[in-house]
Amino acid sequence: MTELFGYERDEMLGNRIEMLVPTSAKDKHVALRDGFMQNPHSRPMGLANSELRGARKDGSIFPVEVSLNYFFQNQDKYILGLVTDVTERVRIENELKATKSNLYKLNEELEMLVIQRTAELVKSQQLYEMIAKNFPDGIINVLNEDFNYIFAAGRDLKKFNVSGEDLIGINYLDRIDSKYHAELLKLFNLVKEGTNQSCTIELLEGHYELNIVGIKGSSDRVERFLIVEINVTKQKELQEEQFKALEKERELGEMKSRFVSMASHEFRTPLSAILSSASLIEKYEEKEQQEKRLKHTARIKSSVTNLTGILNDFLSFDKLSSNAIESCIEEVNICEVIKYAIDEVSAFKKQGQKILVSFEDESCIIKTDEKIVKNILLNLLSNGLKYSGSESTVEVSVKLLEDVVVLKVSDNGIGIPEKDQSRLFERFFRADNVSNIQGTGLGLNIVKKYAEILNGEISFESKEGIGTTFTVVLPQ
Ligand code: ADP
Repeated sequence: MTELFGYERDEMLGNRIEMLVPTSAKDKHVALRDGFMQNPHSRPMGLANSELRGARKDGSIFPVEVSLNYFFQNQDKYILGLVTDVTERVRIENELKATKSNLYKLNEELEMLVIQRTAELVKSQQLYEMIAKNFPDGIINVLNEDFNYIFAAGRDLKKFNVSGEDLIGINYLDRIDSKYHAELLKLFNLVKEGTNQSCTIELLEGHYELNIVGIKGSSDRVERFLIVEINVTKQKELQEEQFKALEKERELGEMKSRFVSMASHEFRTPLSAILSSASLIEKYEEKEQQEKRLKHTARIKSSVTNLTGILNDFLSFDKLSSNAIESCIEEVNICEVIKYAIDEVSAFKKQGQKILVSFEDESCIIKTDEKIVKNILLNLLSNGLKYSGSESTVEVSVKLLEDVVVLKVSDNGIGIPEKDQSRLFERFFRADNVSNIQGTGLGLNIVKKYAEILNGEISFESKEGIGTTFTVVLPQ
C-alpha cells in the first residue's frame, strides 16, 4: 500500500476504504460497497467498460484493477480487495488503441488512394486507347522482342481489313513486303542498341513513314518496340507532282536556252545565204544575167524553206510538250497524203533527187489522223533528202495489213553511225556524221511522239555510208 498509494500502514488502519478512491467517485463507492456487503460474492470490481481509479495520498489519480472477495471469521464478515496498479497496461492499451486507430486511418487513406489511382489509370488507359484507335492516317504498333504483336490500333487498320485484336501474336514482318525485311531487321537491331530509327516503306499501295522506338523493361534492356506508322501517301504524291512540275520547268528552261543557241546557230547560215544572194541579185543588172539571178533566187527560196522547217520543228515540239495535240481519227486517203508530203518537200530536193512511191494495195483508205501522218511523212522524207546526195532516190512505201498500216521511208544516204543509233530519238540529238548539214535534232523526237499519239511505233535500220530505212507502224 505504501508503494501503491503512498500511505503508511498506520495511516490507513481504521480508515475507510474510500480514502483510496478519487473524490469524484467517493459517494458512489460508498453505495456500491454497502451493496456488496449485503450480497457479497467473488467478482472483479467495477462495471464492464468502466474504468476504476485509485487516489494516492498526494492526490494523484491512477488506473487500478480491483478483484473483490470475502470470507467469515468468527462469524464476522471480511472483505478482501486486491488492488493492482494498471497504469502501464492502460498506457500500453491506449497506445495500442491509438496505433490501431492510426493504422485504420492509414488503411482507409490507402484504400482511397488505390481507388483514386485505379480510376486515374483506367481513365488514362482509356485515353491512350482512344488516341491509339483514332490515331489519324496511321497505325500504332507495339511488338515484343520477337517482333510479334502485343498491341495495334489506329484508323488505318481498316485499310488493311484487320482489327487490333486480329494482329495480336502475329509477326510484324508478316504484314510487310519481304523486300523490306532485311532493312527492318537492321533497324530493329539499332533500336535495341539504343537509337530510335525511321524509314519509309510501301504498304498496300500507300507510303508509310515508320518511326521505331525501343521500350525498355525493368532490366534496362529494350524488351518491346513501338512502331508508329504514318500514312504519307498524300505528301509523297504531292512531292512527286512538285518534282514533275519542277522537272518540266527545268526542261522548258533547258529547251528555251537550247532554242536560243540553236536559233542563233541554225538561222545564221540560211540568213547569210539570203543576204549574200540578195546583194548579188542587185548587181546582176544585165538581161543575159537572168540565169545567175535565178540561181540566187533558188538559194533564197531554199534558205527560207530551211528556216520554215526549223520553225515548224520548234512549233510542233512546243505543242507536243504542252500536250496540246489531240488525235482526230477519220477515214484518210493515204495516197493523197503521200502526194501532198512529196510536193511539200520538193523544195529540199538536191539536183537529180527523186522520190519513188510504192503502193501495192487496192484501197488507199485507212483510219488515222491525217495531219499527224502528214507531219510524220514530211519529217522522214525531208530527212531522207537532206541526208543523201544529189541524183539519189528516196523511196516511200505503204502496206495495209489487217490491223495496221506500215509506212517505210528509205534512202541511200550517209546512214547513221552504229554508236549513235541508240540515242537517235532523243531531243536535240544529232549523229556525228552530219558535218555541216543543217538540223535541230528535234524532228525524230517529234515523229516518235506523233507515232505514240496514234498508238503506233517507229523504228529504223541504218548502215553508215549505205543508207537508212525508217518504219512507222500505225494501228487502224
Ligand atoms: P535534224 O535532222 O534536224 O538534225 P532529226 O531529229 O530529224 O534532226 O534527226 C536526228 C538525227 O538523226 C540527225 O541529226 C541525223 O544525225 C540522224 N538522221 C535522221 N534521219 C536520217 C537519215 N535519213 N539519214 C541519216 N541520218 C539521219
